[in-house]
Amino acid sequence: MERNLITYDSFTDDPFKTLPASDPTKGALEVLDWAYRNYQEDIVYACSFGVEGIVLIDLIAKVKPDATIVFLDTGLHFQETYDLIDKIKARFPRLNIKMETPELTLEEQAEQYGSALWKRQPDQCCYIRKVRPLEKALSGTTAWVSGLRREQSLSRSKTNFINKDERFKAIKVCPLIHWTWDDVWHYIEENELPYNPLHDQGFPSIGCIPCTNPVQEGSDSRAGRWVGFNKTECGLHTPDSSEKVMNTEK
Ligand code: SF4
Repeated sequence: MERNLITYDSFTDDPFKTLPASDPTKGALEVLDWAYRNYQEDIVYACSFGVEGIVLIDLIAKVKPDATIVFLDTGLHFQETYDLIDKIKARFPRLNIKMETPELTLEEQAEQYGSALWKRQPDQCCYIRKVRPLEKALSGTTAWVSGLRREQSLSRSKTNFINKDERFKAIKVCPLIHWTWDDVWHYIEENELPYNPLHDQGFPSIGCIPCTNPVQEGSDSRAGRWVGFNKTECGLHTPDSSEKVMNTEK
């Protein structure tokens, strides 16, 4: 396949299957360079500001210093996360970091669906506070970048560099698929990048406060997310779940 512009409609296969060769970034920089040259302003990175996100921001800034980065601001994140975003803005002043907020405030959500929806219907809560805002951020956009790594979970183990994203009808670019947890930390340390201090307190994966717990050493990196629910993804990386969460207002 030609490595020229690939859209949702024209996608047939990942053109970077043979990467990485001997690239120290395991193909990430080559894929990002291709993506930003081809999609230019028509690509968005949806960053959660986890440790993989910081690596990706640093790599993206090398190929597109004024790239658009979107943070899905649910209004329920740790203060440490917001502080980290400020540090990243200071370190990468040319990046266009946008805070995408849900249509409903927390108060409006409580009025319509009852208080603490995340304790009863986390899929519905994620749909309102994360999936819909990302739909808005990606509206009219050809491609988006994600920090998924294959070793993170079974559901992520088949992720390719370039993916046809049926959920958002876009191309999903995943430059870090071959990176291990150690690779990520090595890069952070080597480049003296800021990171969320909660990672040092037993939180490998950091999301909203009510749905994020510390994990025992050696546990699955996402074991602290949505504890007590049969849920490991917020819905951004799973097939369309909108039907099952629609029309369930209280
Ligand atoms: Fe709601 Fe929890 Fe999802 Fe955040 S992670 S949007 S609080 S269910």
